[in-house]
Amino acid sequence: MGSLRKTKKALSEVTERLKIPLDKICVRTGVLCPSCQYKVEKGIVKEFEVDIMRALLELEDEMKELKEAEYIKSYDLGDLVLIILKVPRGYDTNEVAKKIRQALTKKLDFVGKRIRVVLVSDIKDPRRDPSRIAAQLLAPLTVTGINIVWLPNGEEKYKIRAIGNPNRLIAPKEKLEELLSDLLGKKVEIEIERRRRRNVF
Ligand SMILES: [Zn+2]
Repeated sequence: MGSLRKTKKALSEVTERLKIPLDKICVRTGVLCPSCQYKVEKGIVKEFEVDIMRALLELEDEMKELKEAEYIKSYDLGDLVLIILKVPRGYDTNEVAKKIRQALTKKLDFVGKRIRVVLVSDIKDPRRDPSRIAAQLLAPLTVTGINIVWLPNGEEKYKIRAIGNPNRLIAPKEKLEELLSDLLGKKVEIEIERRRRRNVF
């Protein structure tokens, strides 16, 4: 009985590890099996993401926040690499994102690229609740509202309104629209309003 309990415990520990869309052995060794190779060839997973996943696997032992996390996707935006992770409720904070970003920056050798980590909570489906992910992707601008707009062809589109200086966005607005619509599964339009100077009397 004792050994059975041990086995069960070991199994549950295995399930609580970081989830990635490829086999861990393939990512760790860099030698991809036909199934992983297929995903890379089809572009379901990009080649540079294998390095990111490997770094995350190496970090998970020292970072409890990564143990129950799930790797979703990364985007290469030229001078910026955006990494999206799903984490347990309560871990989707700016502090955790910063901690993971700093650790990844040390591990990864992305010359001339900055890294940004975006965390989504595992209880909130970003497709149902786009506010948190929009807020993180549009920071330091402030998201002031998200609406669903119906297009003439019956499709739905998110209209995200933000306020602030568009030059401070992490990537061009069009790029962010593309990325958010990929993540949210709907077309996205971002409308930015510049902060007005207050009149001084
Ligand atoms: Zn594989």
